[in-house]
Amino acid sequence: MHVTVIGAGLAGSEAAWQLAQRGIDVTLREMKPEKKTPAHETEYFAELCCSNSLRSDQLENAVGLLKEELRRLGSLILQCADATRVEAGGALAVDRHGFARMVTEQIRSHPRITVVPGEVTEIPEGEVVIASGPLTSDALAERLQALLGADTALHFYDAAAPLVTAESVDMDKAWFGSRYDRGTADYVNCPMTEEEYDAFWKELTCAQEAPVHGFEDKMVFEGCMPVEVMARRGHDTLCYGPLKPRGLKDPRTGKEPYAVVQLRRDNADGTVYNLVGFQTHLKFPEQRRVFSMIPALHDAEFLRYGVMHRNTFLNSPRLLDRYYRLQSQPRFSFAGQMTGVEGYVESAASGFLVGVETARRLQGKPPIDFPRETAIGALGLYVSNPSVTVFQPMNINFGIMPPLDHRVKGKRNKNAELSARSLAIIDQIKQEVREA
Ligand SMILES: Cc1cc2nc3c(=O)[nH]c(=O)nc-3n(C[C@H](O)[C@H](O)[C@H](O)COP(=O)(O)OP(=O)(O)OC[C@H]3O[C@@H](n4cnc5c(N)ncnc54)[C@H](O)[C@@H]3O)c2cc1C
Repeated sequence: MHVTVIGAGLAGSEAAWQLAQRGIDVTLREMKPEKKTPAHETEYFAELCCSNSLRSDQLENAVGLLKEELRRLGSLILQCADATRVEAGGALAVDRHGFARMVTEQIRSHPRITVVPGEVTEIPEGEVVIASGPLTSDALAERLQALLGADTALHFYDAAAPLVTAESVDMDKAWFGSRYDRGTADYVNCPMTEEEYDAFWKELTCAQEAPVHGFEDKMVFEGCMPVEVMARRGHDTLCYGPLKPRGLKDPRTGKEPYAVVQLRRDNADGTVYNLVGFQTHLKFPEQRRVFSMIPALHDAEFLRYGVMHRNTFLNSPRLLDRYYRLQSQPRFSFAGQMTGVEGYVESAASGFLVGVETARRLQGKPPIDFPRETAIGALGLYVSNPSVTVFQPMNINFGIMPPLDHRVKGKRNKNAELSARSLAIIDQIKQEVREA
């Protein structure tokens, strides 16, 4: 039994691993390092192309639940993320390179996985999992268009935030801390007075953007909106978003500043930080000019500037079943961002489900019912739901899971109960899911 997986990103790596762990031989085809998408920089698999955060690790948050489900079920991506985590308050952030290196080593050393480098330009014979991501190469995207017809590709735009070196941040003008002093002091907080913010905001709203063909503000995915697009929505919009000062008292004044830019550690050594929420597609010299107006970043050394890229995904509600399998030609499954799930963890979750179910099908076993009460199941059911007419990339959220059958006071308590309900189901099916 053999499966070809196209793309060794978060979804493809997870799918290949789950298949191989269940005794299926896998050919994993990845175009790196020969050819790289505009957002990928290294030769490693499962490269995180923007933030190094896999978002909240709390069970009161849906993405925290999704991670816990994957953890209990034996996900490779979660195992590597947990092993390479860096402190980030209640979030699971990882050492970007350490994480990707570990995934790559695990995949390369698996006896059932053969890695074949090079761009896939023709769709292979046999059983195929397509996990080539939001930046699928043009040649493959054309082939998919021909395979799937007009419903193939919808485009949105995603953006990535810049990285700066820790030593270039002026710590006389910043401090280490977490919001409301919760957890450890993992963020570098860069305060701004009202006058400083006002000058920064004015320059940000009129700074020059890099040309992106076909780009319009309305085509931006809300969860990854460029900071300049958000700034244009109003003078104080950023102060209610990524520059929110609530719970961040400057130890030098004992007060909350007018606005605070937070920097999050990007590697285990703490030598590199990313600007939280500063996804952008400004021209590079403009990023340097405008972001250097943040007082603590006046001499910041930029290791990478922010970039904006196309995000290609399928019209999945018309094409896929709940296991991300192509209804019209079941030898094809899709996984990852291109199915319309949005985010690192969601991409890994779809790869997990595809890996498990493809292996089961090839072995003549019935599919496992991941019900809508579980986050993994809810995602697959959402993207394949034919009643969804205007399909947009979807982060996991409790809104796509059935409500509780009783009233619970307080959102956190309610979410905690929704998570407990899901994890009870996961614990029941865990053994069957994990069996080879
Ligand atoms: C610029 C950008 C920033 C993002 N930032 C975030 C973020 O901060 N947080 C977040 O949660 N999500 C983010 N996302 C969304 C998404 O979660 C990630 O893109 C995630 O990596 C998707 O996982 P994937 O496995 O589907 O695709 P990828 O991780 O992109 O993996 C796809 C792989 O397929 C390979 N490939 C492509 N075409 C071919 C081909 N023809 N032949 C062989 N190999 C091929 C690629 O080289 C790549 O390794 C971002 C997306 C983009 C584009």
